[in-house]
Amino acid sequence: MREIILLKLGELVLKGLNRHRFEEQLMANAKRRLKPLGAFKVYTRQSITYVEPQSDDCDTAAAFAAMQKVFGAADVCLCRECEKDQDAMLAAIKEFLADQIAAARTFKVECKRSDKTFPLNSIQLAQYLGGELDEAYPHMRAEMHHPDLIVNVEVRETAAYIHGNPAPGAGGLPVGVGGRAVSLLSGGIDSPVASWMMAKRGLSLEMVHFFSYPYTSPEAKEKVLDLARILTPYTGRLVVHVVPFTAIQEELRRSCPEELFTILMRRFMMRIAAEVAHRTGSGCLITGESLGQVASQTMEAMRCTGVVTDLPIFRPVVGMDKEEIVRISRKIGAFETSILPYEDCCTVFTPKHPRLKPTRAECERAEEKLDVEGMVKTAADNIERVFIAME
Ligand code: ATP
Ligand code: MG
Repeated sequence: MREIILLKLGELVLKGLNRHRFEEQLMANAKRRLKPLGAFKVYTRQSITYVEPQSDDCDTAAAFAAMQKVFGAADVCLCRECEKDQDAMLAAIKEFLADQIAAARTFKVECKRSDKTFPLNSIQLAQYLGGELDEAYPHMRAEMHHPDLIVNVEVRETAAYIHGNPAPGAGGLPVGVGGRAVSLLSGGIDSPVASWMMAKRGLSLEMVHFFSYPYTSPEAKEKVLDLARILTPYTGRLVVHVVPFTAIQEELRRSCPEELFTILMRRFMMRIAAEVAHRTGSGCLITGESLGQVASQTMEAMRCTGVVTDLPIFRPVVGMDKEEIVRISRKIGAFETSILPYEDCCTVFTPKHPRLKPTRAECERAEEKLDVEGMVKTAADNIERVFIAME
């Protein structure tokens, strides 16, 4: 018999008036991810999104894995279709939920009946199935309050559906409901995690990478594109805006005090990212900065970089320990790529004694002789846009 997938909406259920828009976005995101896996029908009823294969060549196992990475679903269940007959249901439960039954010590059966012509009502059906299971499995007893396993049976017009305990979904909000954001993606550990965290809050991302060829290598750029690729099962397809950054760095080295090099460079990153935001209709910036992690990540430095734009800057890992960031990095599959040893543009011309507490006034003084606007425009006009398809 056919298997279908159920997505149980998490926070969405709480969001009152927004709920409809969230459900629409979740379905749209799910459909896009399912497209390469076959013809699936996707619809939502009473806060549950149903994903149903429409032909035999649908890859339901791959679809189940893909649906666990779609933000907005708190739980994901694989569900077995079966004939609307109580003994067929019992047989399906025994076969389909064999592993979960083997692991459970307590259980309960919950039934829902939308087909009112089915001869047993929900309570009678639950009693029948519960009694049979209790007898068939001596290691497992019925328990109404906190059972290890809840056997769910739903009798609908066309068929009955059975599922056990759900698998965890990705949680969060569907990508897109919160608008669009520009995320500064380096090749490191932190920025892919920061990007993932904000996508989880419902933001759709435009990635910006600053590339300092020939000081940084084509391999370093490839690594960043790989990181973007790793994010796509969560974010959907991405555009990486690769900004030619060499000329700006050389200009800063030539004409500015060495100890301010890093902070001035980061002010340019923010300005260019803000320009990309303007050009792509994005409403905020995201970075992987973490307080105190390196010299440019003090509150004074963040103030100096923040004032060059009036866009909000989200730094979701700002209060996290490196270990906590690494844990997420591993979970999303980015870590092994992030630690590949390629240089980043931030490591080019690093001052020996960077200013730990720069002031806005000294940054502005150092930039007086620069054509800031022209430099930003030239860099933004020469961006290479790389399209990353969904993995
Ligand atoms: P990460 O692990 O994300 O590289 P980091 O700890 O190495 O962070 P920095 O190199 O100081 O910290 O960078 C801080 C943030 O600035 C990064 O998280 C990223 O958002 C942004 N950033 C740094 N370098 C680049 C780059 N080459 N392109 C785009 N963004 C960058
Ligand atoms: Mg870095």
